[in-house]
This record gives sequence, C-alpha cells and structure tokens, in this order.
Amino acid sequence: MAEETLVRNYNIESGLGESLPKKILFWDETMRDGEQTPGVYFSPEEKLRIATTLSEMGVDIMDVGIPVVSKEEARGVKLVANAGLDASILAACRAVRRDVEACIECDVDEVSIFIACSDLHLKYKLNMTREQVLDAAVRECEYAKAHGVGVTFVTEDTFRADFDYVVQLYNAAIDAGATRAVFSDTVGYTTPAMMKWFIGKLKGKLKPVQLSVHCHDDFGLAVANSLAALEAGVEVPHTCVNGLGERSGNAAFEELVMALEVLYGRKTGIDVSRMAEVSKLVEQLSGIPIAINKAIVGYNSFSHESGIHADGVIKMTSTYEPMQPERIGRERRFILGKHTGSTAVEDKLRRHGVHATPEQVKVIVAMVKDLAESRSKEEQAAFIRMYREREEKRRGVSDAEFWSLVRKAGLTPPPGFR
Ligand code: MN
Repeated sequence: MAEETLVRNYNIESGLGESLPKKILFWDETMRDGEQTPGVYFSPEEKLRIATTLSEMGVDIMDVGIPVVSKEEARGVKLVANAGLDASILAACRAVRRDVEACIECDVDEVSIFIACSDLHLKYKLNMTREQVLDAAVRECEYAKAHGVGVTFVTEDTFRADFDYVVQLYNAAIDAGATRAVFSDTVGYTTPAMMKWFIGKLKGKLKPVQLSVHCHDDFGLAVANSLAALEAGVEVPHTCVNGLGERSGNAAFEELVMALEVLYGRKTGIDVSRMAEVSKLVEQLSGIPIAINKAIVGYNSFSHESGIHADGVIKMTSTYEPMQPERIGRERRFILGKHTGSTAVEDKLRRHGVHATPEQVKVIVAMVKDLAESRSKEEQAAFIRMYREREEKRRGVSDAEFWSLVRKAGLTPPPGFR
C-alpha cells in the first residue's frame, strides 16, 4: 500500500522493538483482579463467557479467580477449568495451605501462589518476618508442585521491596518448584526506566524461570511499564480487558496488544478483530462503562469533529488515525459540531446522495456551528448527574442494605438507619 511507505516507524526502523521476547504470552486478569474492581461481580457462567471469548482470541493463560473466596467463586473456577479451553487455566491463592488446596480441588492447570514481599506489607499487613514469608512460600510451592499443577510464584509490592530479599525469596521459590515468577507493581509505583533497570538487574541474579509482570495504572503508566518490562525480556504481561482492576485498574489488554501490533509491528497471535466485541462483553458483565476517551475501545477513539482532522481522514484515514478501526471490529464516526469544516458536511451529503453547491455547504457549516454553540449545557449536566447517581447505586451493597443486614444479625444500627 502506498500509504505505508509514507509512514515512518522509528521503533521498528531503529530495531528498538527487536529486544522484545520472541514469544509473548498474554496472562489475563479480568476474572480475578478485574473482578476486584469495586462493585464488580461475575457469575460462574459469565466468567465462562469471558474466558471462552478470550481463549478463542488466543489469550494463553487466564487467572480465573481465588477459589477460597466463596463456594460460588470455586464453582466458577471449576467451570472454566473443565470447559476444555485452549488457554491454560490458573487460580490464585495466598501462601496458605487451605487456599492452595482449594485451587487444586478446582482442577486448574496452574496455581499462582502470592505473598507480599515489601517490608511495609510484612510489618503492617502480614505481621510476618522475612524468614516466615520465605518459609511459607517454599512450603506452599513444594506442596503445589507435589500435586502436579504448574506453579507460579507471585510477590505483591515487589517494586517497593528490598532488592536482595526479592532475589532471595524468588530463588527459594524456584528451588521449591516455581517455574514462573510474577513481579507486581501493586500500587503502580514504577516508571518505564525503573522497570527496565529492575528487571535487568533481577535477570542476572535469578535462577532459570519464566518472567512475568503485573502492572497497575495508578499513574496511568501500566501499559508503558508493561512494554518496558517486555523490552527488558519479560515474556508474560498481565492484562485486564478495558483496564479493569483494583483502584485505577491494571494494564489494559486492548492497549497493550494494539501497541505491540501497531507500534512494534508484532504479530501477537491475538485475534484483534474481536477486540471491540470482548470489550463490550466485559463492559456489559462488569457494569463498568468504558470511558468515552478510553484508548482503543472508547467511543471517541475513532471519532472526528475538528474540520482539519475530518478533512485529513476523509482524504486518507492514516493522517489522523494510527490504525484502521475495522481492524479491531469498530467503525469511525464523524461528529458534526462547533469545529466542523466543509469537507465533513460535503462528505455526509454526498454519501446520502444530496448534491449541494459550495455556497450551500458553507451555509450549512455555519448553521451547524451556530447550533452546536447555542446548545444548553442542561442535557450534559443531567447526563453526568445520572451517571454519578447510578455509580453510587451500582457499587456493591448500599448503606441502607448494609444496616438492614446488621439489624438481621441482632445489632442496633446507628440513628438514621433504624
Ligand atoms: Mn493487582
């Protein structure tokens, strides 16, 4: 295509992208960390729908839940584990015996055993010493391995922990049977340069193990940090569809995959034509609306209003679009408004078989601008109000419901909730 020779990609031309590992394995967290998004709950059958779609798209590994959480959670994990999907099905557990047993009872292919490793978490959360944490990790990795499941060892808060202790802990877990190591940026504390530095330093010190990262988006850097980890040789990035997850979420699946496909020119092996479909499915089942300006899957990702941009896109889409929306199962939209120019109006008239002179087009453009600028803000204020109110209602159990449960337990709720 002529257009391609006009677009330079220095990431590819300079060879910067070649440092990525040959095979990147996508580890989905939508059904575990994604489900830990405040107020989100997936039924076992819903998890199966998400898992089936992602597996068909080519996702390699899926963390589908923490079986010890509830009977229904265990049923969900078991349902997905026994569905015969191509993806490897994994369940998560603390380094606690009954948690590990609960995973094994769900027929999963792999378990991921997690424990905190920063001194902050050890002191205030676990109330354990470094030695106690190491002992628990070794004990449970050995136990899981002896039961014939794949063993991944995960530390929480890896990037705020003592580096030498991180090395010691992982090497002990590897000796105990872990074949994959996950480093978690639990509160999104890392930057791309720091990620490269940390992973580079770790690689020289760890016994042979597959490397994986779990990045959070507290500073909007989850995808950038995941890419930096891949450039440093990590093979298994964790992602969530629509960037779901605790607080501001995890690295977004659609963003990481499309960055690799488009910006690095990589064939990821993911069927990206179903990206919009899986995003909408997760939006529906999670109840978390996709932000309008969200990368890749947001309403505005392929919408154009400004006259200069619409004109460019109508002449050649790649002028103001980094990729074709059709590639991920979407369509482009032209929005008529204050910034509209004559090309967009002409184009719209022409596509609907209406012929207009340049003078007539000019008149219509002026009227479009006037109308857009004179609109009252009442409607949009009402929309935001409704959205906020619905957000409050959607989140978990309401205050009124909570205090009525408290009353049921025989206690007296505070004044105002009686
Ligand atoms: Mn997490």
